[in-house]
Amino acid sequence: MRDYDGSEYPEAESSRTFAAVPDGFARLWTPHRIAYIEKGPAASGDECVFCTAPTLSDEQALIVHRGTTAYVLLNLFPYNSGHLLVVPYRHVATYDAATPEEVAEVGSLTQTAMRVLTATSHADGYNIGMNQGAIAGAGIAAHLHQHVVPRWATDANFFPIIAQTKVLPRLLGEVRDEIAGAWPA
Ligand SMILES: [Zn+2]
Repeated sequence: MRDYDGSEYPEAESSRTFAAVPDGFARLWTPHRIAYIEKGPAASGDECVFCTAPTLSDEQALIVHRGTTAYVLLNLFPYNSGHLLVVPYRHVATYDAATPEEVAEVGSLTQTAMRVLTATSHADGYNIGMNQGAIAGAGIAAHLHQHVVPRWATDANFFPIIAQTKVLPRLLGEVRDEIAGAWPA
């Protein structure tokens, strides 16, 4: 596989390649990954990551803000750097099952998320939305979550490359700190 400049590009899937590359960023990735994978539905069967995340520290769970009925965290598998999820604490699957209070707070947190991302990362636009049900593309269909995905004019064909290598894991902790620090009190 060749990089843009024609140089040999390491295979993202090869652990031997990762192990051979000096990488001071790996320890930032590990706690996030363990928190999700060990407690996530894929590993344990029953536990819901969006129910578990609020029981962890903000840093472990990549939470940037805790509201009254809902909270905001970084997506561990982001489409883009700064990809946030707005999630009600209550384990509810679909939008029509959310309470008026949850709907209102998910809405207001989404607005704040946009403002914070605009301030911190100068996003040019956003994709916002909810996938309702596995058939509609929801990765975790059992627990409602709203995506807030910042977009930049220059992002196409760039993040898909680095997102699968070592750069995005490093950014997760940094981006969490940045967004959490910029979130209005
Ligand atoms: Zn849940």
